[in-house]
Amino acid sequence: EGFWRLSKLGVPARKDPGKDFVGVSLPLLEAIAKVLEFPVATMLPQEAFSIVRKSFDARKVLKEPEFVYTVDMDVKKLLNLEPRMWDFISQLEPKLGLLEYMPDEKVTADLISVLHNSTMVHKAKVGKFDDSTDNGFYKPQQPKKPKVAVVGSGPSGLFASLVLGELGAEVTLIERGQAVEQRGRDIGALVVRRILHSESNFCFGEGGAGTWSDGKLVTRIGRNSDSVQAVMKTLVHFGAPPKILVDGKPHLGTDRLVPLLRNFRQHLKELGVVIKFGTRLNDLIVENRQVLGVVVSDTRDEPGSDDKKLSYDAVVLAVGHSARDVYRMLLKHEADMVPKDFAVGLRIEHPQQLINSIQYSTLAAEVHEGRGRIPVADYKVVKYVSEENNDSSSESGDLSRSCYSFCMCPGGQVVLTSTNPSEICVNGMSFSRRASKWANSALAVTVSSSDFGPFQHHGSLAGVEFQREFEGKAAIMGGGNFVVPAQCVTDFLDNRLSVTSLPPSSYRLGVRASTLHQLFPPRITEALQHSIIMFDKELPGFISKDALLHGVETRTSSPLQISRHSDTYESTSLKGLYPVGEGAGYAGGIVSAAVDGMYCGFAIAKKLSLYDGDI
Ligand code: FAD
Repeated sequence: EGFWRLSKLGVPARKDPGKDFVGVSLPLLEAIAKVLEFPVATMLPQEAFSIVRKSFDARKVLKEPEFVYTVDMDVKKLLNLEPRMWDFISQLEPKLGLLEYMPDEKVTADLISVLHNSTMVHKAKVGKFDDSTDNGFYKPQQPKKPKVAVVGSGPSGLFASLVLGELGAEVTLIERGQAVEQRGRDIGALVVRRILHSESNFCFGEGGAGTWSDGKLVTRIGRNSDSVQAVMKTLVHFGAPPKILVDGKPHLGTDRLVPLLRNFRQHLKELGVVIKFGTRLNDLIVENRQVLGVVVSDTRDEPGSDDKKLSYDAVVLAVGHSARDVYRMLLKHEADMVPKDFAVGLRIEHPQQLINSIQYSTLAAEVHEGRGRIPVADYKVVKYVSEENNDSSSESGDLSRSCYSFCMCPGGQVVLTSTNPSEICVNGMSFSRRASKWANSALAVTVSSSDFGPFQHHGSLAGVEFQREFEGKAAIMGGGNFVVPAQCVTDFLDNRLSVTSLPPSSYRLGVRASTLHQLFPPRITEALQHSIIMFDKELPGFISKDALLHGVETRTSSPLQISRHSDTYESTSLKGLYPVGEGAGYAGGIVSAAVDGMYCGFAIAKKLSLYDGDI
């Protein structure tokens, strides 16, 4: 009994049924037979194989592009269906990186069982959760439920609320922005009528910063880890396509995220979570370094709406990295915070067709705006810019830094992620089919506290002020009205203003020819220029008169970290405060933020005696 995991099974793209098919096809059986060194592929029963991962590989080193699979072979099932395989199976030997024996049944982690088997499935069957079900994790309900405020309904806040709600806390989810229905209208008003609602926009509102996004679910924290799997399965539970569980580069797109969030909200409400949209955390109630509650106000009634004081046993701070007012408020309370490295740069946009043909050559014709068998092409580039390529006048001792593509959105559009009309910053989003004519990506250069020079006196907020400097400059260069400063990549490399007309942009509020090479200090500009030249060697055609740079991309990740204890998730300086997610400096995307929120939920539940399993 057990599983054999078969990896790196390549199926040529022209033979594979395509990106949307996640079954076991005959060409895949042929690839499996090859790794197993089994002579007759058609004798292998399809039902004994399940797909763990499917990715598309169009690297130039390959003779032809292929889909690459990882597959689990269920030995018991295989022998039930085809007993004659026994002699063959009993002689299989592990092969490095291709064939691995996994003696145990696939591990069902505590987290997954708590979130999915014990509660959700149970609830679906019998209505309300029954305390008498002893699954080893639940303690009998206490007469008085502990009260927890979760501030922020991004992925980290939602998953913290879910875990705490499931485990029996009385949760209030406080969100300054609006529910997705109203948030959609507010974003519409921005894109069509240039009205920026400072509390309901691309960063603030239900689902957090990732709702009007590309919805990429890739993460650097271990794709197969139990916690990531728990998050992915939860997303499927709320309506994401099951394909995300096996896709090598899973993504949802805004059109799928919005209904998913409605289902998530519905489930939280059924758990008894109170959700307060349009409610902003203004302050914490702190006594003797212990957080006792929050001070909030209604964001739609401004100005002059009265602040309300609310008491809680614990406060989860899941506010994302655009809530600069929250950072300032924490500074006032002398919360421990430290500046953190992050990255700044520009967003580059190419025609998607150009990226398709750079990546796929002749196969590009089969992309068909996301409807074809082949995925819309993306790219990921990273270059290390060493000392000799940099500006020798920099005050920094260590001049090495990396420049990389970030948050690449194939078939997407450039969007405005400012939360204040005097600042411009951009990012990218897409819909699930990734059918637009454009491909955009941030090109970002790492910066550390040694770059924050004139802003050092802001202490832990130096990075925030550094970001604001360039966002303010970009707004001035754009000339107002949310027009974004832009420059042809060729002119950016030559340090000259684009004088001929700019190539078209997907950005809806307009672009203005600008000297983006003068936006950042020379050391950052030169790092960008040097890397772009190197990217073009890897992706010939990347430097093109059709490629447009947009300013400015500053909010790649949090510029600071709110210090917390690694085991309890509690702030090192303010008891009862639990900083989580991207804004606190512990996550860098949708999935990692969700995982952080989930673990924090378990940690608080443990502290409040609602859970006594491992975290
Ligand atoms: P957030 O999602 O930022 O949520 C914080 C929430 O807190 C917000 O809803 C905010 O309104 C609320 N809040 C803030 N202050 C207060 C307050 N004072 N009171 C009450 N509520 C408050 N990541 C990916 O992995 N894949 C992608 O494809 C991707 N695309 C992106 C595209 C765009 C346009 C943007 C902006 C981001 C994208 N990201 C993407 C990044 C991703 O969205 C974030 O990493 C993730 O959302 C962080 O989650 P979080 O829960 O930590 O914070």
